[in-house]
Amino acid sequence: MNHHPETTAVHVSAPQLPHSRPISVPIYQASNFAFDDPDALAEALGRPEGEFVYSRYANPTTRALETTVAALEGGFGAVATASGMGAINSVLLSSLRSGDHVIAQNCLYGGTIATFADLADRFGVQISYIPGHDPAEVAAALRPNTRLLYLETIANPMTQVVDLPAFLAAGREAGLITVVDNTFATPLLCRPLEHGADVVLHSATKYLGGHSDVTGGILVAAQEQRYRQLWHHTMEIGACADPFAAWLVLRGVQTLPLRMRQHCANAAVLAERLAAHPAVSAVHWPGRVEHPDHQVASRVLADYGGMLAFDLVGGREAGYALSKGVRLVRLAASLGGVESTVLHPGSTSHRQLDAAALRDAGIGAGTVRLSVGIEHVEDLWADLAQALEN
Ligand SMILES: *Cc1c(COP(=O)(O)O)cnc(C)c1O
Repeated sequence: MNHHPETTAVHVSAPQLPHSRPISVPIYQASNFAFDDPDALAEALGRPEGEFVYSRYANPTTRALETTVAALEGGFGAVATASGMGAINSVLLSSLRSGDHVIAQNCLYGGTIATFADLADRFGVQISYIPGHDPAEVAAALRPNTRLLYLETIANPMTQVVDLPAFLAAGREAGLITVVDNTFATPLLCRPLEHGADVVLHSATKYLGGHSDVTGGILVAAQEQRYRQLWHHTMEIGACADPFAAWLVLRGVQTLPLRMRQHCANAAVLAERLAAHPAVSAVHWPGRVEHPDHQVASRVLADYGGMLAFDLVGGREAGYALSKGVRLVRLAASLGGVESTVLHPGSTSHRQLDAAALRDAGIGAGTVRLSVGIEHVEDLWADLAQALEN
């Protein structure tokens, strides 16, 4: 049929490739999918596993990422989100009602703490923070209205590692929904669902993506019912991932095992060298026997991760000087990319806090966080060593 140019310009169709199977996942940058019959369309709108109908509900590229990460975490299914905070807000809003009580580890990602404060302020959700040293803390914090236990596998910036199997067992015994932010460990170092978590989440902006080029998140549910609930609410809230962002994360995930090996190996070398340096008073990395959670980490983690923190003898001024002195290592707020980054909370994210308030936050005035990248470790050490001389 001969259409008008206005019509022809609109009705472009992708080439059909009946006998070709692309090795990479194509980017389905499509928001809307056509159907032959209204019953099939109606059916597809109601289920995550139906035909693709609308990309806020599901998208083929995004689905490829969800299937891959669900398999890596050992879950029933996953829901990709626009960011880590999108994942966190989606699981909390879909699990909590006003008046519910949450037990959470006190050392959490700042955005998560801000979300809990907001839920408390505007929706009357009650929060109890526990130190995360002893699983008996869960039973001690329980209230009749406790609904959810929220943990991080490796916590920022002092690399605290909770005894996940024990804490999750305590949470399950109390009938709580258990949620673990596994961003720092990744499924290569720990699979919290295997230890009894109901939901695992990631900021895919960090290690899953791994290249500092995409903002994303993902939720993985152990069970079908929870998966359907998370899918439904993420779709309703509209925190879904964009197909191109999902594609970038998927591309990152393909090299995640290789990258994690190098992050961990480099961190092991740098942790030792930093600890031996006279300008450094302490190194916080779970692989060190001096780390308070080393025993737990050895049991719970397959390796000790690429995040470490160290305290400078010279305090806040020394942290500031190191931030300015690094050349190869970048000064940046985020982490988990192929390139190494440092952040000195005392002169950036936490600069408004005095030394006592910093200590309350579990951070020293001279504490520096190092996200160890996959560069050659000798180049990293040369840069850190020259920056420590300043
Ligand atoms: C960055 C981060 C988040 C938030 O993720 P965004 O992608 O920035 O929204 C959540 N948890 C942890 C542990 C993080 O490091």
